[in-house]
Amino acid sequence: MKPLIEMHGIFKTYNVGAENELEILHGIDLQVWPGEFVAIVGESGSGKSTLMNIIGVLDKPTAGLYFLDGVDVRTAGRDEMSEVRNKKIGFVFQNFNLIARTTAQRNVELPMLYAGVSAAERQSRATELLRRVGMEQRRFHQPNELSGGQKQRVAIARSLANDPAILLADEPTGALDSQTSRHVMDIFHELHRQGKTIVLITHSQELAAECPRIITLRDGAIVADHRKEAMLHAAF
Ligand code: ADP
Ligand code: MG
Repeated sequence: MKPLIEMHGIFKTYNVGAENELEILHGIDLQVWPGEFVAIVGESGSGKSTLMNIIGVLDKPTAGLYFLDGVDVRTAGRDEMSEVRNKKIGFVFQNFNLIARTTAQRNVELPMLYAGVSAAERQSRATELLRRVGMEQRRFHQPNELSGGQKQRVAIARSLANDPAILLADEPTGALDSQTSRHVMDIFHELHRQGKTIVLITHSQELAAECPRIITLRDGAIVADHRKEAMLHAAF
């Protein structure tokens, strides 16, 4: 088995060469294996979203090596990168990022449309994904007719549209009340049980504590990396 995410010495500097140059990530080494459910936790401003953008190939590191499912992101061109991103990664954001005036069903179908999936296949797959997140009954509603929790369920269904290797969620419960957050976390746990690899970025220690592996980021560096199974095994 090889890691899905493999980073060596990742640095990220904003405004390189300018007066306001600022190094945010200071040499991140990270490996995430297929089937892991990893929380990346850290205070606001610790660099979580910066790291997420690099993991998700939305942004490139200033220095360091990053292999996403074996592909060296430095050598990949723009088109290859967006293809890798569409196929390998499903994104879930704090603010849902659903397309307005467009049904839940259509929102989930869109990534498949871009991936060239046939209309019939898109329709049946979107319906199935919405069923998995408990949104089948509301699949013809538009985002403005849905609650925050319902929007996030649709966003999770959309993130799964092209059956990505990794689900990358940045503060997915940040805009939700605690009960709704619970439902969303339960969906992530269920997806993990089904074998999906998940990277969950959160500033909530409480949510992170539910995850089998917890990585703590502080001021742009990994200061802790705990696996629960390892701790359990060590106890025996
Ligand atoms: P977190 O997600 O942990 O709250 P971020 O990764 O968003 O942290 O931000 C880390 C630091 O990087 C912050 O100090 C932020 O101001 C800075 N930062 C983020 N994006 C940019 C940018 N595009 N240009 C300059 N600085 C940025
Ligand atoms: Mg952030």
